[in-house]
Amino acid sequence: MKIARYKKAQKTLSFYRNNFGFREPYQILIDATFCQTALIFQIGIKDQLPKYFQAETRLVTTQCIILEAESLGSKVQGATNIVKQFLVHKCGHEKGPKSGIACIKSMIKNNRYVIATQDRELQEYLRKKPGQPIMYLHKKTPVLEQPSELSRKTVEFKLNESFNFGTADEKKLVALKKSEGLPVAEDTKTDLKKKKKKKKQPNPLSCKKKKKKPNAGVTLKKSSIDNIQNKTIEKTKRKRVKIPSHIKEIFQSNKY
Ligand SMILES: [Zn+2]
Repeated sequence: MKIARYKKAQKTLSFYRNNFGFREPYQILIDATFCQTALIFQIGIKDQLPKYFQAETRLVTTQCIILEAESLGSKVQGATNIVKQFLVHKCGHEKGPKSGIACIKSMIKNNRYVIATQDRELQEYLRKKPGQPIMYLHKKTPVLEQPSELSRKTVEFKLNESFNFGTADEKKLVALKKSEGLPVAEDTKTDLKKKKKKKKQPNPLSCKKKKKKPNAGVTLKKSSIDNIQNKTIEKTKRKRVKIPSHIKEIFQSNKY
């Protein structure tokens, strides 16, 4: 059972390594909600995560995450103590600390982090970012979530773009898709010809940053790894951090 779980994590890690440039030591950016759950279920994060990844890991957090946890007071003192044990990566918000969520959103813009959080809203946001690994605790069990549909489609798109669709290339492409667990059309030739016609679509990984439209649906065309930053949050200077009510609920309810 355990071995199967590790193997699954390895497969997911290799997807991010092969397609999105993740390398050892894997940097795991941990927030206080993750620490709180680890505390409740008596998980030693420092022992368990490297074991789960079967690789060298670097456990990190940010000053904003620590400050947010501290501001929640004695109720989450245990989680605060845990999160303070990790390396503190500079987030650039020294002058105006942000909420943990806003800080994490800005951190993934230019860095490769596995985000460890129990915050469902943040997880939902991260799933819309191609190539963004997410992990959480399912009770006592660490889980590295499988790549999102969008991450898989981005890889598929890149592969299609990088081949010239000669017969030899078609075979290579099919083999590559299979190795990454991507769907392979039964009638490959027809499928590839169709995709060749659609070649004019911009590569989502080379798009310039676009202004984020509120409530815009995520499509392969519009989303890109660069299009991560929520600029409106960046521009707002706030000295006092308002903690989202759902985060307070996570800490207070102890439901996981
Ligand atoms: Zn920050």
